[in-house]
Amino acid sequence: MFDLNTIKGIGEKTEKTLNKLNIYNIYDLITYYPFRYEVLKKTNLDSEKVVISGRIISNPLISYFKRMNRLTFRLDIDSQIINVVIFNRGFLKNNLQIGKYITVIGKYQKEKNTLLAADIKLYDIGNKIDIEPIYHLTKGITNKTLNTVINNSLNDINIIDYIPDKFIEKYDFISKKDAIYNIHNPSNKLILNKSIIREKYEELFLFMLKINALKYRNGQMSIGYKKEVNKEKINEFISSLPFNLTDDQLNALEDIFNDLKSEKRMNRLIQGDVGSGKTIVSIISMYAVYLSGYQSALMAPTEILAKQHYENVSNLFKQFNINICLLLGSTKKSDKKKIYEDIKNGNINIIIGTHSIIQEDINYNNLGLVITDEQHRFGVNQRNNLRNKGNMPDVLYMSATPIPRTYALTIYGDMDISIIKSMPNGRKKIITEVFDSSEIKSVLYKIKNELDLKHQIYIVSPLIEGAEDENEDIEKLEKKFKLAFKNYNIGILHGKLSSKEKESVMNDFLNKNIDILISTTVIEVGIDIKNASMIVIFDAYKFGLATLHQLRGRVGRNDFQSYCILISNKDSKRLKIMKDVNDGFVLAEKDLKLRGYGDLFGVKQSGDMTFKLANLTKDYNMLLDAKKDSEEILRDIDDYKLLKDVLKETINMD
Ligand code: ADP
Ligand code: MG
Repeated sequence: MFDLNTIKGIGEKTEKTLNKLNIYNIYDLITYYPFRYEVLKKTNLDSEKVVISGRIISNPLISYFKRMNRLTFRLDIDSQIINVVIFNRGFLKNNLQIGKYITVIGKYQKEKNTLLAADIKLYDIGNKIDIEPIYHLTKGITNKTLNTVINNSLNDINIIDYIPDKFIEKYDFISKKDAIYNIHNPSNKLILNKSIIREKYEELFLFMLKINALKYRNGQMSIGYKKEVNKEKINEFISSLPFNLTDDQLNALEDIFNDLKSEKRMNRLIQGDVGSGKTIVSIISMYAVYLSGYQSALMAPTEILAKQHYENVSNLFKQFNINICLLLGSTKKSDKKKIYEDIKNGNINIIIGTHSIIQEDINYNNLGLVITDEQHRFGVNQRNNLRNKGNMPDVLYMSATPIPRTYALTIYGDMDISIIKSMPNGRKKIITEVFDSSEIKSVLYKIKNELDLKHQIYIVSPLIEGAEDENEDIEKLEKKFKLAFKNYNIGILHGKLSSKEKESVMNDFLNKNIDILISTTVIEVGIDIKNASMIVIFDAYKFGLATLHQLRGRVGRNDFQSYCILISNKDSKRLKIMKDVNDGFVLAEKDLKLRGYGDLFGVKQSGDMTFKLANLTKDYNMLLDAKKDSEEILRDIDDYKLLKDVLKETINMD
């Protein structure tokens, strides 16, 4: 019943087109909201943008030249006669009969007594204000058709309203069906706003309901196992490290140790800027858990990162008798079987991998700690799967999205938070410079300087949007760089490579067999190569601040001077900010200010924190209402079967 092809006006072809817009069922369709509205209100002819109605008094003439066509006719506006010209609307000719009232939008040229039209509406706008929804489109569907099929499906579908009656009353919300209808067909601004607010509230309410349900459950199932923390051995390990931990790292560890020691299950988020040294904190935690006799698991969002953690951990734990395994999606079946076996009987102490470490068929022997790295890549629904593994393990999340604390407290309301703010001692500030693409030569000289110092270089190029062959651009760059740097080794990395190939490229870069690594943003997350001192980002204006900051964080991981070179032939405020600001938390605040609202720094990347209408910062007060309301509902959740089912389905809550 939710199939698109049951809707009037949607055939096989239209269905395929809709799929391209990520619309796969009726619900997707009716919540495919306009991204903006065009507001039309009658003006007079002097106005900058003229919107005026009148009666057609001559048959339209059409003339062609090259690939354009031009339509002209005369219009009577309250007895003032003017000429109207519009380009490339030849198809309108038959709709423009003498005597018909229409509305023309455009610019009036007084000397020629001609209205150069940008658009024509086939009705008299009168004295009303006309609001037209504008959708993001793709080839094969028009704004009008999309609006029509949406309205057709709204007729057919029974829409489930998730907002409890008492809040509908409290906020005086209109019905969900009306709200969605109005968003697609607004009759005036007031109704439109009312409708949008209602839909936003529902999104935020459901989101906060999940967060609060998780929080509530963490309280319910909070009893885990007390673990002993062997401070002496841990300190010994810490002093064997080649560096001193920062105060923030030590404080985070203190928080973690207290959680481990207590009977309460840990559910803690470590928030730290890129390069602030979160990994070592997680490694020390795993060591502590190993000492207390439990297994730990570390989950990373990509295979490259998992691999890196594996090498790092293996290296640091060399001197101990700790068994560590790496488990990836691409791990051979026979190897997997053996690893599962060893995990089950406790031969393995530390498991590192991607999503594959929470597969259903893995049975842990005595899992005591689960860590997710780059937690912002995983959504709310996934927060839970981890916790459900093993027997009440402690859970630690690592996130490199430095979002302001107030926001963090709400959207990560189900967790405790430790913040690592300061960078390791001795780090030099990364120098960020912006260049026009015409200045590429001086950039090449800078690269050469770094290569002479035996340092390595990252080159990043954005994917061409919608390009069939995403690696094409990268390969072009490779050719150019091979010409410019004949005596150096150049490697490329992009999403199309198999994980084996990626791994071997990363290994070559790590082992300095590659001097210049050209890549897409696959390197964005977490990669740690100390010897890289420069990152050059092409078409930098295409990236948001959060991504640029993550990319920049790939360098500056040693005590020598590092550089971030942003190449862009478009001026952008963001690039200026990047130049001036290095601190991620400050950058996040600037990002908020710059856009006035916008997505929270980097949070957008995480699966289910992207809302269709609501915005975590712009609608923050509503988020707080939703938080309070959802807490109220949770206390009597058994009375709300519908919502209970939602929680069961999305976060496995029973
Ligand atoms: P992130 O917080 O971005 O995950 P990493 O954990 O990868 O950062 O750490 C960045 C680099 O800094 C690593 O090479 C790590 O070994 C190093 N590092 C971590 N802590 C310190 C410290 N206290 N002093 C010096 N270097 C450190
Ligand atoms: Mg990291």
